Parts: sequence; C-alpha cells; structure tokens
Amino acid sequence: MSSKRHILTAVAWPYANGPRHIGHVSGFGVPSDVFARFQRMSGHDVLMVSGTDEHGTPVQVLADQEGVTPRELADRYNRVIVEDLVALGLSYDLFTRTTTGNHYAVAQELFTGLYDNGYIFTRTTKGAISPSTGRTLPDRYIEGTCPICGYDSARGDQCDNCGNQLDPIDLIEPRSKVNGEVPEFVDTEHFMLDLPAFAEALGTYLTAKSGQWRPNVLKFSLNLLDDLQPRAVTRDLNWGVPIPLEGWSDNANKRLYVWFDAVVGYLSAAVEWAKRTGDPDAWRRWWQDPQAESYYFMGKDNIVFHAEIWPAMLMGYSGIGDRDGDPGSLGALNLPTEVVSSEFLTMEGRKFSSSRRVAIYVRDFLERYSADALRYYIIAAGPETQDTDFTWAEFVRRNNDELVAAWGNLVNRTISMAAKYVGEIPEAGDLTDDDRRVLDHSRAAFAAVGGHLDRSRFKAGLQEAMRTVAEANKYISDQAPWALRKTDPDRMRTVLHVALQLVDDAKTLLTPFLPASSNKVHAMLGGTGVWSAMPHVEDAVDTIGGSGEPTTYQVITGDYAASQARWESVPVRPGTPLAAPTPLFTKLDPAVADEEVARLEDAAK
Ligand SMILES: [Zn+2]
Repeated sequence: MSSKRHILTAVAWPYANGPRHIGHVSGFGVPSDVFARFQRMSGHDVLMVSGTDEHGTPVQVLADQEGVTPRELADRYNRVIVEDLVALGLSYDLFTRTTTGNHYAVAQELFTGLYDNGYIFTRTTKGAISPSTGRTLPDRYIEGTCPICGYDSARGDQCDNCGNQLDPIDLIEPRSKVNGEVPEFVDTEHFMLDLPAFAEALGTYLTAKSGQWRPNVLKFSLNLLDDLQPRAVTRDLNWGVPIPLEGWSDNANKRLYVWFDAVVGYLSAAVEWAKRTGDPDAWRRWWQDPQAESYYFMGKDNIVFHAEIWPAMLMGYSGIGDRDGDPGSLGALNLPTEVVSSEFLTMEGRKFSSSRRVAIYVRDFLERYSADALRYYIIAAGPETQDTDFTWAEFVRRNNDELVAAWGNLVNRTISMAAKYVGEIPEAGDLTDDDRRVLDHSRAAFAAVGGHLDRSRFKAGLQEAMRTVAEANKYISDQAPWALRKTDPDRMRTVLHVALQLVDDAKTLLTPFLPASSNKVHAMLGGTGVWSAMPHVEDAVDTIGGSGEPTTYQVITGDYAASQARWESVPVRPGTPLAAPTPLFTKLDPAVADEEVARLEDAAK
C-alpha cells in the first residue's frame, strides 16, 4: 500500500479546430485531473500528459474556409485550448501539441518500428482525382451520402453525423466540393496497419482486464476483436507528419493519418517532458518499468483507438504479434493498464454540436461561473458510466444546495464562530462519544473515498466525501456550540476544535475535485504555503508544423511536488490564528438557468 507507484495519466488530446465545450472536458479533462491529483496526494509519481491534436482534414478544411494556413489555425486553437484547460485547473505535467519536431520524430519512430517488424504493409486502394484537372482530389474535398447513417453531407474521410471514419469511395453519390463534379477513382498506394496480426495478442491482453476495467468499456473492446481489419495509416493530404521512408518522405501529398500520429502523442509528450526536466530518459520510468501503470482517459467515441489500435501499435513496436519481431530503438513499451472511458454528455436534451452551435464552451462557462462549480457538476452529475444530460437548472441546484448550502456553509459557520468566539483554533478538552464517532468517520473516509478514486469511481468518491460534510453539519447543529458560549465555554472550545478538524479533513478529501476552493479553505484555516499546486503556462521552443524554424509555443505544466496536500487526516494545530472567512462559493439566482437556456436557444437559431 505504501510503496510508491509510477502512474502515467494519459489524457485524450483535444482537437484544435475550435474551442472545447463542457462535453469534451467532462469526458477527458476533469476526471483525469481528479485521478492525477488524488494519486499525487497519495505519494505516487504521476506523469500527466496530453496536448492539442492539430493535424488532419478538419483543421485543413476550416483553414481553407478562413483563408489561413492549417498551421495558423492550429496555433490559434492551441492557445485557446491551453488557456481554457489552465483555467479549469487541470494539472498536466505537460500539455503540448502534435506539431512539434519532437512529436514528428517520435511518431515517425513508431511507424518505422512497426514497418521494420512487418506490421505495416502497402496496399493499392482507390484515390480520387478531379476529371477536369487530372489532379488528386483530397478526401476533404469530397462529399456524399454516408453509407452507414445516410447523412447527406458526409466528408470523404469521416461522417460528422455518426462519427464513423470513411473512405471517399464508400460515399453514395460522391461529388467534389470544389466544383460539384463526380470524382474519378484511380489506383493510389497507402500504408496499412495489420491489425489482424494482433488479434490473438489483443485477445489475451483484453481478457486479462476482466474485473478491472469498467464493464461497458471492456465489453465494447472485446467485441471489436471480432472484426479486425487492416487500417490505413496514411492519407492523401499535405498537412501532417511525413512518411519516414525513402521515396515517400518528400511526397508532399502523403502524410501519416492524423489518428496514427495523435495516439503516439502520449509517448512523445512523455519524451518531451523528460527533455524539459534535463533527464531525457526520465520518461522510461512510466513506459518501460513493468511495475509502472498507465491510465487513459477519454470519451467513449475514442475507445477503439485506446483499447485496440494503440495497444496493437505498442505491441508491434515492441515485437509482439503474429510475426513477433524486435523492439524498436526506444525499447519495448508498456501497454495501457486501464482505458477509462466516459459516456456522452448531452445538453438540455440535445447532442452537443459545435457545427450546429449547440454547445456551452468552457471559456463562456468560466466567464460566468467558477471552475470548481463546473468540476463539481461534471463529477457529481456527469457521464461517468452512462449518457447524461446537462441542464442549467440542475447546475444551479447543485451549486446552491451542495456547494453553497452544504460545504460552503460548513466552512463559513465553523470558521466564523471559532474566529469570533476564540480568535484561533482552540484546544480540545475531553472528547465525548459523539466527538469520537464523528472524528472516526471522518478519518475512515480517506480509505473509502481513496478506494473509489484509485479505481476511477469518481462519482462514488465525491458522494462519500460529501457525506462527511453532511455529518459535520449535523454534528454542529446537534452540538450547537453558539449556545454553549456562556453556559460551558470549555465544551464550546472542544466542539469548535472537533468541527474545525472535520472541516480540515473535508477540505483534504475534496481537494482532487475542488482544488482552488480547497486552497482557499487551507488559507482560512491559517495554513501557509501551497496546499495543492495549480497549473501554469510556460514557453517552450521547438520546430512547429514541419518548418525548420525553432518557434516559441506555450505548454501547460506545474510544480505539483510543491503541494503540501497529502491523502490523510492531519491534526489541526491549536493556537493557529483565525480570521473571519470570505464566502467559498457564490449562490446563483435560479433565474440564471432560464437566461442560460434562452442564450442557448438564440445561438442555435
Ligand atoms: Zn454517417
């Protein structure tokens, strides 16, 4: 239990074609941060990495529409997303981007290792050309009816309605978005990942996860094994990572498929992080020590990449699979310990859709409400194991009833009484059975909440933590220390001492969920220094987007080792001066919910 674990927290890479909405951060963002903060508080060595996913067709299409380069578009949304994720308090050790020279090199190394072991082969497929010009018609410029869901504006590479990846030739009634003509399909060569060669190894790997992974995630992953097909890892596109093979690397119209380079990001970001620390091999502790653990956080639309394709890539690179082989130059790499997938968040009964503007963007949300209020809602009422609907009315209710009336009020009334009646944390006299019982419960909550968080059961963990808040409120109401002030001041001091201990414990239990407000409570209780460190933005330098020029870009990082927060009950120190507290959370007028819904209706018109 006490031994130090190396825990990689691998967080899905947000796509840099626009600002992220609260559905996105409820899938990958907040749950992964709760997990990472809890594990750090438990004394483990956490490496939490991610970044913006910047290649591929959607970025290029949007750039074309706006008359900017894909690189300019990616630069813009990388910055927006970095600011939003910092504002949410997500404690990345490194949040970078897929356009760095480091990432290009690592993605190409994975390709090379798989190719050398025979797990990547070429196949001639049909590519589209424009009959009037004879030139290659990139996938993004072909539109047609989706063969899977019937959506009439599916793109050549993906259907935005059902989310399935497509090939242009599969589209019903394909047409060029440039001039409406019907494309002609001619032979073109692409590289394929031989997924069927991993069927047996993946089966063994996944079967061993029974009882560990969320049942819905495991069942979905095992079902995928029934239909493993070779998957294209290159695309007719000029925005992406070049193919690292003689005769291909200078072909301006062939690039690694965006999904291939994006999943390698977990590894490349760890490598980049290690370089930044001055110990370039430091990443190996999370990727090559057989005892190290890795947890991948995402929404359920990404399970296929994390439970099937990425493990297959890691196996093939490490020389595991039907054709065996030798590990590539980085050495053998660890497979995911667990794929922690969330379900979907809908909003006021509708599916989030950026293109239809049915979305609540993180930035807009945080302009009006606190990050902790959003974090609380996402964990308490988010899509952890089932699709869940976000409603403004429920957000306001939980903010007012649970954060303001339960937790905020406990902090406020306890500290104000102690500040007013004593001026400092009082000494406890003899404890009664009631005192001992409530303190025992509070101490025992660390094992209970921790057990949930270690298994990524965040909602259950938060409920358990909030139960200690309810018990503390009940204790204070029952003991009524205000009534003892004149009749039995010694007993009043003991009750206030016990109550302050309960507040301090609850602050610690809630730190992974509500880091910013826990920091405030730490200060209100007379604490000094950093309780739970928050992320910040720093400059980094690398080449970006395949240009040879060193460029400054921004990453999210943090000095989390400076945090005092430990996952344990720490006795409060009598004599610590206390001042009157300021409110922890803001009560919201219920009319706010109606205003927000109206705002949404307007935007969707
Ligand atoms: Zn479709």
